[in-house]
Amino acid sequence: MSTPNSLTRGYFESLDRADPLRDLRAEFDLPEGRIYLDGNSLGARPRATRERLLRLLDQEWGQDLIQSWNTHNWVGLPETVGAAIAPLIGAEADEVIAADSTTVNLYKLISAAQALRPGRHQIVAEAGDFPTNLYVAQGICAANPASRLHIVDPDQIATALGPDTALLMLCHATYLKGEVHDMARFTALAHDCGALMLWDLCHSAGAMPVELNRCAADLAVGCGYKYLNGGPGAPAFLYVARRHQESIPPAICGWMGHGAPFDFSQEYRPAPGLRRMLSGTPSVLGLAALHEGVRLFAGTDMQTVRAKSRRMGELFLELLQPLMRQYGFDLISPADPERRSSQLTVSHPHGYAIVQALIARSVVGDFRPPGGIRFGLAPLYDSYADVWDAVQHLRAVMADEEWRDPGFQIRKAVT
Ligand SMILES: *Cc1c(COP(=O)(O)O)cnc(C)c1O
Repeated sequence: MSTPNSLTRGYFESLDRADPLRDLRAEFDLPEGRIYLDGNSLGARPRATRERLLRLLDQEWGQDLIQSWNTHNWVGLPETVGAAIAPLIGAEADEVIAADSTTVNLYKLISAAQALRPGRHQIVAEAGDFPTNLYVAQGICAANPASRLHIVDPDQIATALGPDTALLMLCHATYLKGEVHDMARFTALAHDCGALMLWDLCHSAGAMPVELNRCAADLAVGCGYKYLNGGPGAPAFLYVARRHQESIPPAICGWMGHGAPFDFSQEYRPAPGLRRMLSGTPSVLGLAALHEGVRLFAGTDMQTVRAKSRRMGELFLELLQPLMRQYGFDLISPADPERRSSQLTVSHPHGYAIVQALIARSVVGDFRPPGGIRFGLAPLYDSYADVWDAVQHLRAVMADEEWRDPGFQIRKAVT
């Protein structure tokens, strides 16, 4: 697609008219006048979620009560929702299960990887990774004194891997820079040294194609409340390649992962397949909401989603260039759209206050230290006109120094 020399709002509107995803915006309840560029942190609410939760509250829970575990198949929701996520991440239906938080699933899979690679003691992770990923690995190593966590810069990963490596864990798309890692290449590197590969899909599931099986990945986790639009604190998901499912030990031996939970046996015996990776009772309200978020992808394909996200990112950056030079923003995301995920991160010494000033103008992005301003692009509901308007607001915030308002300097608990 070619870009005219002078970009105008009319051009962005014409892109919206030609957008194959344009009808999906109406499937979300977005507040009037809000430009929501934070779907990489909390996805917007699908309209269908409201109906589904009301039905769940009034009929399934309110009237049918405990029978609903059977009659509405509440007990099967982790698998039902996992199977709906599977095609978005290049997995088979029985390789994905929705449960717990990303943090807990990381604990389960890092622990399992260690057990599957006995005699190997090293976990390799990337410097600058999302904190919880590193914390969980640190905690596991603290409890197993023979284990070591080796945190390296991305370009040193290949040299860090060796005969003692049990696991390489990486984010497919990084949370701060929005950098996409080559899944096939890193998975092959891990396998070349006999290690397992764990992918974190928090910032790629629902935003771009993911090819876990084509890349021969072993393990993966991902988030339900970002691009999958599952709602605040939605259950996360985990993936275990079929070839590992019968040998993988569940780090949390809970009754819901037992082969026959309602036998109430005193001996733990893992369920066959992925169900053993469940711990306790599924979060039914959360899973139902996540199911509706994931369902919205059924009518589209991830190539189309990625093409829009990529085009929005390119245009966003093009509009930003003059502002960046004039007001001293640095580009944190990769300049190459191929290596950039569905977000654009720039930094500025007054990044936090600038984000607050934008929010006051109804342009919602977020801030990540030290100076990162993140703009998430959610192709299911963000429009090209949103991109145009967001940049006009940013220009006004900078030109009039609106960010200097003392109210915008105060750090809130969640940034
Ligand atoms: C969002 C995110 C998480 C969130 O984990 P929770 O357990 O849901 O709090 C973890 N890791 C990465 C890389 C994320 O982007």
